[in-house]
This record gives sequence, C-alpha cells and structure tokens, in this order.
Amino acid sequence: MSETNRIWRLRKRPVGDISDDVLSLEEETIPEPAEGECLFQLNYLSLDPTNRIWMSDMDQYMPPVAIDDPMRGVVCGTVIKSRSPAYNEGDIVSGIGIWADYQIGSPETVNLLGDIGSVPVIDAFGTLAVIGPAAYFGLLDITDPQADETVVVSAAAGAVGSIVGQIAKIKGCRVVGIAGTDEKCQWITKELGFDVAINYKTENMPEALKRACPDGIDVYFDNVGGDILDACLKHMNLNGRISTCGLISQYNAIEEVSGPKNYSMILMQRLKVQGFIIGDYVDRYPEAIAAVSKWMAEGKIKVRQDVVDGLENALETVKKLYTGENKGKLMIRVKDV
Ligand code: NDP
Repeated sequence: MSETNRIWRLRKRPVGDISDDVLSLEEETIPEPAEGECLFQLNYLSLDPTNRIWMSDMDQYMPPVAIDDPMRGVVCGTVIKSRSPAYNEGDIVSGIGIWADYQIGSPETVNLLGDIGSVPVIDAFGTLAVIGPAAYFGLLDITDPQADETVVVSAAAGAVGSIVGQIAKIKGCRVVGIAGTDEKCQWITKELGFDVAINYKTENMPEALKRACPDGIDVYFDNVGGDILDACLKHMNLNGRISTCGLISQYNAIEEVSGPKNYSMILMQRLKVQGFIIGDYVDRYPEAIAAVSKWMAEGKIKVRQDVVDGLENALETVKKLYTGENKGKLMIRVKDV
C-alpha cells in the first residue's frame, strides 16, 4: 500500500469542452474508515458521459460535484480495511466513488461485485455494472420492441448503444445504428449483426434515415439528442416509442439548447417518449445482469472495452467520449484484479 493517495478534485465548472484546468490531481493522506465503512483501493474507474454533467451545475439527477470536492465516478476496487460486516478484506466492490487511488466505501455507496462466474472482473465491471442494465431496461422496459419492428439507436458503437442494438437483434428486430466513423459502422454491422449503419458525420441524416428505414421507425433509443433526435422524430411510426437514455450532443453546449424542431411528431404519431436513469433500477439489476451475462456467454452479445492505464490519465481520457475517440466502454485501469 502506498503512503499517499492521489485524488482528482473539481476546481471549476467546465464551459464548453472539458478543459485541463477543471480538475487537479492532488497528493493527500489515505483516509481511515469509520465504523460501518471500508477502505478500498481503486482497480478500475469508469469514464462516463455523465461525468461532464456532474462537473457542471446544470439541472441534473444528482447534486453536482461541489467545487474543490473529489470528482465523482463509477468505481471498482478491492477492500483493504473493513469496519463493516458488509465487507471483508479482499472483496471486490463497485458503485459510486471518487477519482482516487484509495477511498472510503459504505453500503450506501458501494456493493460487492458479486458472483460473476468466469467473467473477468474488468468485463463484469465494464459491462454489467451500469452499461448492460442501462441497455437492457432502457430498451426492453421502456420501448417493448417487437419482432420485425425497426429499432434505431444512436451512439451505436458506444458502450450502451452497442448492447442495445444486439439486444434488439436478439428480439428479432431490424436494427439501424448511427455512429461517427466508418470503422464503427463496419464494426456494428460486420461484427455485431446490425442490419444497417449510418455515419452521421459523412452522410445526409434525413436522406440516410429514409433509405435505412423504408418502413419508418418503431423504436428510437436516443443516446445523443439534438439533430439526430430531430431526424429520427421525423420518421417515427404511429405509436412509436423513444427511450431517452442520454443527450451527449448537448452536454458541452455553451449556447442555450433549442428544443426538437419535430416535436409535433409526438402528437401526430402518438409517440411515447420516456427518459430513465439507471440508478432507479438498482433493485432489478440481478435480472439484467443474468440476461446480459447469459447472452455474452452464448456469444450473442459482444463487447469491447477501451482501457487506458493510469489514474493520472483520467482527465485527458474522459474527453474522448465527446469527440467520439473511444471505441467501446471507456475506463481507466489502475491495477488489474
Ligand atoms: P459511449 O461509449 O457511447 O461514448 C459516447 C459516444 O457518443 C462517443 O463515442 C461518440 O460516438 C458519441 N458522441 C459524442 N458526441 C456526439 C455528438 N455531438 N453527436 C452524436 N454522437 C456523439 O458512451 P456511453 O455508452 O457510456 O453513453 C451513451 C449515452 O448514454 C450518453 O448520452 C450517456 O449520458 C447515456 N447514459 C445514460 C444512462 C442512464 O442511466 N440514462 C446510463 C449510461 C449512459 P460517435 O463516434 O458515434 O460520435
């Protein structure tokens, strides 16, 4: 165990893209767990688009990180001291923590990663802790996709989107993915079995959507909001469903964000549009974890992790999410387990 703790603190709220001065990496003393808590060492830090939301003071679903507080993150670590019956030394825990080598956990913040069978910890954490359940409940609970329906998903080669598309294929749907590079488009069609891919950076979206969805869109799984949402709204079928998972195209906006131009389609086509936050599904996680891990074991769901070594690289790496440089689930590895 090291003598000091490295910890990222929020120093200012980002304006536009995340800049180098929004966080600083400090060396501090390692905290001591109080009664009911444990001390754990970070193994993996998940980097998520929502990190940009937590850094800001926009209206959000959790309190924003306060200036000078440690940066919040989804973490996976190994318990090295326990003063709680919930943890033993050596347990692997995951949940909401901070961007730091050593940190305090309690049953309100971190749980045992649990029985993951033969799945490596890095995959169990990367896929099953947040992303898999978000794809599973966000698609199945909210949109109830039926065989032969057309499902469109944006950020389709990303962590959540790639799993959404594969679950929709398992359910017998026709799946159209929208992504930002030709390599991503090839990966989702050739490797993951999506029916069609659209590169939104090089193709004319309205035309490409019309071509890719000759029977219209029954389900749109929205990871991005903005112009892509607008283009999809225009093609929604009667009684279509939209699952609002994320709005990444707007997280770095400096100007006020305008509403969708095709909002009227919600009325005309009697659409159901519903947002969700995966934390609300915690009680049902076992259902999603069982289904997604079974599909992974059967080879029906493939995942790719984009792993960068070193906590010191967290700030530089998180920026990749907003430029599209990440290929799959983005995370920092501090120490393999
Ligand atoms: P991804 O792995 O999908 O990475 C983000 C991707 O978004 C990038 O790779 C990029 O792909 C795409 N992107 C970035 N900027 C834009 C833009 N301006 N327009 C269109 N696409 C863009 O991240 P996640 O899978 O972790 O997250 C995807 C979405 O899901 C996010 O909006 C996130 O906030 C949300 N989310 C919501 C949860 C919930 O509980 N509701 C839980 C987890 C995630 P490309 O190259 O294709 O542009």
